[in-house]
Amino acid sequence: MLYFFKLVSKPIQSTLVFVVFLSRIILAQDKSYLLQVCTVLCSKEYSGRGYTAYPSQKITGIEKAKEFIIQEIKKNGGYDLREYITKTKQFSRSVSIKSLKNKFSYKNEILFPFNNIHQVYVEINNQKLILGQDYLPDASSPNIDFVGQLIKIDSIHFINKEHKIILKISEKLIYSASQQQEDFVLIHIKKDLLKKENSIIDCKIKIKAQIEKVKTNNIYTFIPGTQFPDSFIVFSAHYDHLGNIDTTIFPGANDNVSGVAVLLDLMRYYKRNPLKYSIAFYFFTGEEIGLLGSKYYVDNPLFDLKRIKFLINLDLMGGGSEGIMVINGKVFENEFEKLVNINNEKYHLVVKSRGKAQNSDHYWFTEKGVKSFFIYTLGDIKAYHDIYDIPKNLTFWNYEKIFSLLVDWINSIN
Ligand SMILES: [Zn+2]
Repeated sequence: MLYFFKLVSKPIQSTLVFVVFLSRIILAQDKSYLLQVCTVLCSKEYSGRGYTAYPSQKITGIEKAKEFIIQEIKKNGGYDLREYITKTKQFSRSVSIKSLKNKFSYKNEILFPFNNIHQVYVEINNQKLILGQDYLPDASSPNIDFVGQLIKIDSIHFINKEHKIILKISEKLIYSASQQQEDFVLIHIKKDLLKKENSIIDCKIKIKAQIEKVKTNNIYTFIPGTQFPDSFIVFSAHYDHLGNIDTTIFPGANDNVSGVAVLLDLMRYYKRNPLKYSIAFYFFTGEEIGLLGSKYYVDNPLFDLKRIKFLINLDLMGGGSEGIMVINGKVFENEFEKLVNINNEKYHLVVKSRGKAQNSDHYWFTEKGVKSFFIYTLGDIKAYHDIYDIPKNLTFWNYEKIFSLLVDWINSIN
């Protein structure tokens, strides 16, 4: 989920289960698959799925994640949607699915600047602080190599005016991603760390940062509809996260490997149980740095956005003990009512709703008139945009019910 407006804080392995549904055998959700995907994508080789590489890695985290997702799509039987659209000439002729090469050879599609903070060192009163645990720089901080003093100006700020440095005492350390550099350094220090300090502190602060140009890609795949392949239900999830600063990784297990894993699991299901409409799966890049992948898509859609019957964006899917939140539930009331009715009848989850929010990739679609929900889970997980958002914390509570609710509800859309 996008950390919007920097200063606003925010609030089993299971075996494959076969169930009989409408007299056919379907493959149900698979939590062990989710956990496998989460473990891989959160490992250090994937460098927090950012635009830099972990010191021992040659390729960036986001590129490596892209390769992994495409490999899983191919295993799960998804097709390259762009190739299909090209070959059918925007659905004006039919092609056999077998004729698709399924190459996903997307190159340098989405371009943007990125403030690459690749090294940070902070020492206060001769005590070296631990990155991620004791402090985090603001993502827009510039280069600095400073030795000197900072002065306390109020209960939460220490500053050095001349060198434009601010240390801010924060309840929670939250990192983000930035396209630009500010002309001042802002460092968030964990509450309690500077409690006993005097009004003047001795500091060493070193940051190496530079603006770099990033080239990255969305991934589009689909399971063709049996009757109306040119009409789409779209599931989306962003696969980027905040990357790494040197050897400190932001794993982003809940945000948003959880959503990526659920999309891949849904793909496995729909491969075995196709609908009359096509089911597309969009894996967006650049979400954390400003919803850039989804913005790119609505500005450069593969096909007329009107062909999307509904878009369901999944982000922060790793909790669930307190139910789910449906962003836009108060906007698309009829569809939300259907969801609630199915839930009341069969699943009895807590299903909450909100209005519009510019906090994940559904946003640009809603703005363009595409009906969409952004669904996230509630409960269990406290980590957010920090080093503690790890697979071990994911519960996927009530995942079976959430999965089935989504599938039933999609079936109810005409
Ligand atoms: Zn996020």
